[in-house]
Amino acid sequence: MADTTLMDKLVSLCKRRGFVFQSSEIYGGLGSVWDYGPLGVELKKNIKERWWRAMVHARDDIEGLDAAILMHPKVWEASGHVAGFTDPLVDCRTCKARFRADKVADAQCPQKPSKHPGEHSTCELTEPRLFNLMFKTFMGPMAESASVVYLRPETAQGIYVNYLNVLNSSRQRVPFGIAQIGKAFRNEITPGNFIFRTREFEQMEMQFFVKPGTDEEWFERWRGLRMAWHHELGLTPAKLRWHAHGDGELAHYAKAAYDIEYEFPFGWQEIEGIHNRTDFDLGRHQEHSGKKLEYFDQAANERYLPYVVETSAGADRVTLTVLADAYREEEVEGEIRVVLGFHPAVAPIKAAVLPLVKKDGMPELALELYHDLRRHLPMFYDDSGAIGRRYRRMDEAGTPFCFTIDGQTATDRTVTVRHRDTMSQERIGLDQILTWLLERSAG
Ligand code: ATP
Repeated sequence: MADTTLMDKLVSLCKRRGFVFQSSEIYGGLGSVWDYGPLGVELKKNIKERWWRAMVHARDDIEGLDAAILMHPKVWEASGHVAGFTDPLVDCRTCKARFRADKVADAQCPQKPSKHPGEHSTCELTEPRLFNLMFKTFMGPMAESASVVYLRPETAQGIYVNYLNVLNSSRQRVPFGIAQIGKAFRNEITPGNFIFRTREFEQMEMQFFVKPGTDEEWFERWRGLRMAWHHELGLTPAKLRWHAHGDGELAHYAKAAYDIEYEFPFGWQEIEGIHNRTDFDLGRHQEHSGKKLEYFDQAANERYLPYVVETSAGADRVTLTVLADAYREEEVEGEIRVVLGFHPAVAPIKAAVLPLVKKDGMPELALELYHDLRRHLPMFYDDSGAIGRRYRRMDEAGTPFCFTIDGQTATDRTVTVRHRDTMSQERIGLDQILTWLLERSAG
């Protein structure tokens, strides 16, 4: 059963604490488009950087790329998106709501939310119809069909059309990969669940080019690596699982596909896809562009079109996963304590510096420490209100540690470290804090 209350609480916390705001809220909001506030932008950036480190910096066989969002329209003809990037939809003639035909069983009837569309006596659903998910716009001054361009619906195509550029300008040989983080746009019909399904989102995609015949082995290897990455992010292992695409579900380009799913308050849902795309994409681009895209394997003296194993995760979806997984409420001394238990490596603020009281030289010492530390890590200074309240504010923001300057600090140069998860406290020397914090905040 979907835990809508938990989602409502999370959405409200995200707004209150500056993680996520609705786009253009003062104008009533724009459907399924969201903005990241001061804490949200740090959280998402930390997740993207962690991905980039694991996929690009920590490996010798993957290069990074940042391709433009706008591409030649023929790219989308070749990729099959112009003809095939459609979701079959059903409309309800009574309430005018629109649903994805394959998701009707998960949707609520707007007239009677306890029922699915089509189940209420007045529902009148149409036959499924196709709808293209790509956003169209025009390049140049003329709004005419000759100047149509699309906002990319996935980042992968930017990688395919650059694969030879990267190969020829780097020292890579097949097998090798190209990774990219960037915006993608889909005119989703049934968006929702906060930042889970949005119309503008960011993907973290990697295309790994391999010799045909070795694709299945690489596919399995990448499945293992990607699941391990989510575990290392600190997500609850029991809330992660595999979903294998059956014959009817496989995309037109894929030989095999597995989703990594997470158990959200609204049910098990995909957060990342691992796909064996074969030589479909390179083959289509070769055919449509008329340019040879084969790889020449010097050692074996043979030419072939590489197969591609893709790992495709949504930065926003992973951010939501991290938020949902981190959220917890605990009763402490008769009060509810709300905690975002982020892994310190992704926490937006690594630590807060708090003078116990606003006198006796404590704020001066605290500010000095704060200014020292923030040259290295995102920090927060807070001197307003009771210390217990300040700790709670940091718990809600997911800050793993608080350093409290008290009466003892001036005499023995130590501070109290208060741990978010256990609420336990210990004393540590001022001169050790930076190393202590850097060690704990590293990936
Ligand atoms: P779904 O079935 O949920 O629409 P998909 O199978 O179309 O997803 P892919 O095309 O495989 O998704 O995209 C790869 C990843 O990009 C997804 O696992 C997801 O994390 C992310 N993603 C896709 N569509 C959206 C969206 N509308 N909003 C946010 N993230 C998305």
